[in-house]
Amino acid sequence: MSKQQEQEIAKRRTFGIISHPDAGKTTLTEKLLLYGGAINMAGAVKSRKADRHATSDWMAIEQERGISVTTSVMKFTYGNYEVNLLDTPGHQDFSEDTYRVLTAVDSAIMVIDSAKGVEAQTEKLMEVCRMRNTPLITFINKLDREGMEPLDILADIENKLQIECTPMSWPIGMGKTFKGVYNIYKKQIHLFTAGQGNRDQNGITIESLDDPRLDEIIGSHDAQNLRDDIELLEGAANPFEYDHYLSASQTPVFFGSAVNNFGVQELLNAFVEMAPPPNVRAAASRDVSPFEEDFSGFVFKIQANMDPAHRDRIAFFRICSGKFVRGMKVKHHRLGKDITLSNATIFMAQDRANVEEAWPGDIIGLHNHGTIKIGDTFTQKELLKFTGIPNFAPEHFRRIILKNPLKMKQLQKGLQQLAEEGAIQVFRPQIGASYIMGAVGVLQFEVTVARLKNEYGVEALYEPIDFQAARWVECADKKKLAEFEQKNQGALATDAEGFLTYLAQNEWMLNFFMEKWPEVKFHKTRENV
Ligand code: GDP
Repeated sequence: MSKQQEQEIAKRRTFGIISHPDAGKTTLTEKLLLYGGAINMAGAVKSRKADRHATSDWMAIEQERGISVTTSVMKFTYGNYEVNLLDTPGHQDFSEDTYRVLTAVDSAIMVIDSAKGVEAQTEKLMEVCRMRNTPLITFINKLDREGMEPLDILADIENKLQIECTPMSWPIGMGKTFKGVYNIYKKQIHLFTAGQGNRDQNGITIESLDDPRLDEIIGSHDAQNLRDDIELLEGAANPFEYDHYLSASQTPVFFGSAVNNFGVQELLNAFVEMAPPPNVRAAASRDVSPFEEDFSGFVFKIQANMDPAHRDRIAFFRICSGKFVRGMKVKHHRLGKDITLSNATIFMAQDRANVEEAWPGDIIGLHNHGTIKIGDTFTQKELLKFTGIPNFAPEHFRRIILKNPLKMKQLQKGLQQLAEEGAIQVFRPQIGASYIMGAVGVLQFEVTVARLKNEYGVEALYEPIDFQAARWVECADKKKLAEFEQKNQGALATDAEGFLTYLAQNEWMLNFFMEKWPEVKFHKTRENV
């Protein structure tokens, strides 16, 4: 490994932001980009967020291709650090996409609305982070509004998310009486001024909380409250332990107000210092260190139609080890052949640029002409397959109906490609000639039908179908499997990759089947091989 590789890895921070809609993710993203010098982003990030409103809005936004792409991955430089911020779709119906994006990050920032505490979507996303023990920094937002008591918020996080909180800063008042925050570790007071759009807020350092200057700065009432709070925290709160943060059993907590750009730089400074650089990644045969000389990485997202004129599809690829050089030849694990990575794109905060070289932690965009799927691994020498990029069992099902039967070929192609992108899951029942769509969120159906029409010229409808759960089926005993298949044809289908899937009318049936066929394994997730 070269010295340069070591240095490049040390300065990379690749992360995502998780939150419930409206907690302030978009606002925080904008402010973070501001510090990264990408000042023109504000508008672009805002337009992107329309994705969680009506489908029509979502489609319109997706059609403004450039925007959705540049904001899918935002790369910026901050001090000595190279930061990659991966955007996750805001709408919960696209949570599957979000799950996969989170497989490509090394850490995350969780935004919580101080008035609402932990909300449903945060809980779901936290489950995903927990699957990979993703280190998490928490930002409690909207302190300029009346909210829950800070201690109650921490208790809420600890109870609902089962992660220990360790406050790094502490708010002084809230809402109308919000005066600022006290940085517990740096012993600095940061005074709040509303509507501050500028960059720097230098803290006022005080020797200790007994310093009488504190009373002058924030008034004796608040000063006393702060002293009491901190004393209480010292007794009750867990001290910050770096290892616990890294293993995701503890989350450092910051308070602020994103819209007022308050506490954001403090958060960013702490983030780049604390958040882990690219680490070891698990492949099927062994763990891969970022410091290895040979290049490797995996595809976690495919996005279509970024350029409507070319109908292209871009595969988002996370580099796990070695160095990417334009034009390099790599092994495509699934296809078992070599391909040349000639036209890679890197996503800077403002626009796309051609990449000449990139390092572990970086995300590059590869033009995909149908040879790349989610989960694909490319390596320089050794054939490897990174694991942990799953398909999730769909929870909603519809039968797709073609208006013009002569368009069957186009429908098949469209469904195949949309399935490869992870936009929808497609099942072929063992009996009959229809296609069943499966989704984690129902909005996916509308988007699929709209895209079939726009991109493949296929007019299709969908109708309800009596399924509520799906499981991928596996059985080591081939005879038993054949018996299972033969007896349950009506409930079996194959997915777009040809994997056998059991479709259940309801949870009760599913459980009944699982008990009845103990030799058969029913999987809730499946990984491409
Ligand atoms: P997202 O859905 O998580 O991306 O949330 P947004 O960033 O769009 O924020 C949702 C709403 O909360 C918007 O109207 C923001 O202007 C507002 N907001 C964001 N941060 C703050 C804050 O610190 N204080 C207040 N009062 N409002 C905020």
